[in-house]
Amino acid sequence: MKSVIPWLALAATLSAQPDYAVHDSHFHLTNYIQEGTNIRDFLSIMGNKVGRVALFGIPLQQTWSHRNTGDFAPTYYLQTDAPLYYYSFTDAQIAMAYRGLSKEEQARFDPMITGFNPADMYAADHIRRVLQTFPGVFSGIGEFTIHKEFVSAKVAGEIATLTNPALDRILDFAAEAGLLALIHNDIDAPFPKPGQEPYQVVQLIQLFKRHPRTTIIWAHCGLGRIVHPVHHQAAIVDRVLSHPELGHVYIDISWDEVAKYLVATPEALDAAAAVINRHPSRFLFGTDEVAPQDQERYLKIYDMYAPRFAKLTPEASANLRKGNYERLFNEARRRVRAWEQANPPKK
Ligand SMILES: [Zn+2]
Repeated sequence: MKSVIPWLALAATLSAQPDYAVHDSHFHLTNYIQEGTNIRDFLSIMGNKVGRVALFGIPLQQTWSHRNTGDFAPTYYLQTDAPLYYYSFTDAQIAMAYRGLSKEEQARFDPMITGFNPADMYAADHIRRVLQTFPGVFSGIGEFTIHKEFVSAKVAGEIATLTNPALDRILDFAAEAGLLALIHNDIDAPFPKPGQEPYQVVQLIQLFKRHPRTTIIWAHCGLGRIVHPVHHQAAIVDRVLSHPELGHVYIDISWDEVAKYLVATPEALDAAAAVINRHPSRFLFGTDEVAPQDQERYLKIYDMYAPRFAKLTPEASANLRKGNYERLFNEARRRVRAWEQANPPKK
C-alpha cells in the first residue's frame, strides 16, 4: 500500500500544471495609442486555457491631429488620415510590465522587440540596445510590418520596403542574437488589377532566401482584412514550405480577419488543412488580439478554429497549438540569453 503515496504526490504535481489548450504566438498587449490591458489582468484572461504568449505592443502610434479630427481622439489607424509614427518606448513598456511579474508568471511570456523603423539603418542598433538595457527579457523581434493594407501608406517618413538594406541589417542581427523574427507582409496588393505583378510575395521570398540563418515567422501567411487568399494560395504556401532553401520560414494563422477566409468554405478549409498536415512542424496558432478585456473576446479566433482542428492529423494539431511554439521559442530564449551573456553593455 505504501507505494501508492509517491504516485499520489506525482499526480498532484502533474495536475498543478494545467493542460493548456494552446499557446499564442502573436499577441499585442497595447493598441495604436499605446494603451492596453494590464499584464496581471491579462494573465487571468489567459487563465488555464492559454499556456504561453509571445508578447508585444504595437510599433506605430496613431497621431491625434486636431486639424484632422478635431476633438475626436482616434484610437485606430482607420479612424483618421493623420500619420502613424514609430514609438520606440513600447519596448520599455513591455519590458517593465514583464519585469513586474514573478518568475513563474514570466515563464508564460516571450516578449518581442517592435519599436524600430524597418527603413532605418540604425534599427538594428535599437534592437541591440534594447537587449542590453533589458537583458533576460526578449526572445524575438516583431510583429513588424513592411507591406500592410491601409497602414504602410500612413507611416510618416520613408516607407519600409523589402529591398531596403536596413531590413537586411535587422534580420542579420536577429540571426546573430538568436532572435525570432515575426514579420507582417501582405501577399498581394489590396485591389490588384488583373495580371499585376505580385511583387510583394516575389520580393518576400527573395528576402527569406537572403537570410537562411534567421528563424522567420510570416504573420497570417500574408492575408489581411482586404488582402484575400490569392489564386492557388494553398499551392504557393505549399511551395514555400517545401522549398529546400526556406526551411527557416514558419507561418502563423492569426487574426480573425484571416480566419474568416480559411474557414469560409469547405474547400478553403480542406485546402488549408491539407497544407498544414503536409508541413506539421511549420505552422503556429496565434490570436493577433489587441488589448482584449475578457477571455471570450481574446479567444474568439481560437473558438472559430477549434472545431476545425479535427481536420488535422493529431501530430499537426498538437504542433500547431503548442509543439512548434515551444520548440521555436525555447530555442530563441536559449540563444538570446547566450548572446546577452557574451555581449554585456559597454561600461
Ligand atoms: Zn498583429
